[in-house]
Amino acid sequence: MKRYTLKESFYSLQGEGVRAGTPAVFFRFSGCNLACNRSTHSFDCDTDFVGGEKWSAEELVERAHALGSDGCRWIILTGGEPALQLDAELIRTLKKAGYRLAIETNGTRELPEGLDWICVSPKVAEDRLAQRRADELKYVLREGDPLPQPTVEAKHLLLSPAFDGVTQETLETASPLPLANLRWCASLCLKNPPWRLSVQQHKLWGVH
Ligand code: SF4
Repeated sequence: MKRYTLKESFYSLQGEGVRAGTPAVFFRFSGCNLACNRSTHSFDCDTDFVGGEKWSAEELVERAHALGSDGCRWIILTGGEPALQLDAELIRTLKKAGYRLAIETNGTRELPEGLDWICVSPKVAEDRLAQRRADELKYVLREGDPLPQPTVEAKHLLLSPAFDGVTQETLETASPLPLANLRWCASLCLKNPPWRLSVQQHKLWGVH
C-alpha cells in the first residue's frame, strides 16, 4: 500500500490568494525539489518540510475527518512540494470521501487530473514550469522586482509581498508587515490590472 509522507496536518483558514479566509484541512507534504533562498530568489524559504510521518490514503481521509469541523469540505495540499508525492489514487480517495482539493505548487511537476483549485507559485524560470494551467498564479516579490511575465494560463494573477525575516518571535512582538515590499506590489497592481495583491494574512491573523 502506498504511503505519503506529511510534515504536518492541521485545520485552519486559508491565509492568502483568492480563497483567503476559507476554512480547510491542510496536508503539508514533506520534501521539496527546490531550495529557495535570498541568493537565488526574492526570499528565504520559511517552511520546514524535512521529516514527517507516513500515511495511507485511507488514513488521510480519517485524519481529515478528525481535524475538520462538520461542514469543512476543503483540503489544501501543500508542502514542501506536494506534487512530488501526489498521485491519482490519493486524489480519488479524498474526493470519494466528499472533499474538494486545492493545491499549492511551485509548478515544476505536471499535476494529476481531478484537483478543484490549483495555485501555482513559480520559483523557477517560466520555461522550467511543467504545470501550464492554474486557477491562480502567485509570485512572491520584493521591492524593486519587475512585474512577472507569466506564460502559464491562469484565471487570477497575484503578487505577494515577501515577508523578510519573519519569525515566531517577531510575529508576537511587532507588526511583521513587510511595508516596502507590500507598497511595491500594491503599486505594480495599481499600474497593471488585472494583477491583484495577495498578502500572507495568516501571519497577521496569528493562525497556523
Ligand atoms: S518551492 Fe516553496 S517549499 Fe520549496 S524551497 Fe521554495 S519556497 Fe520552500
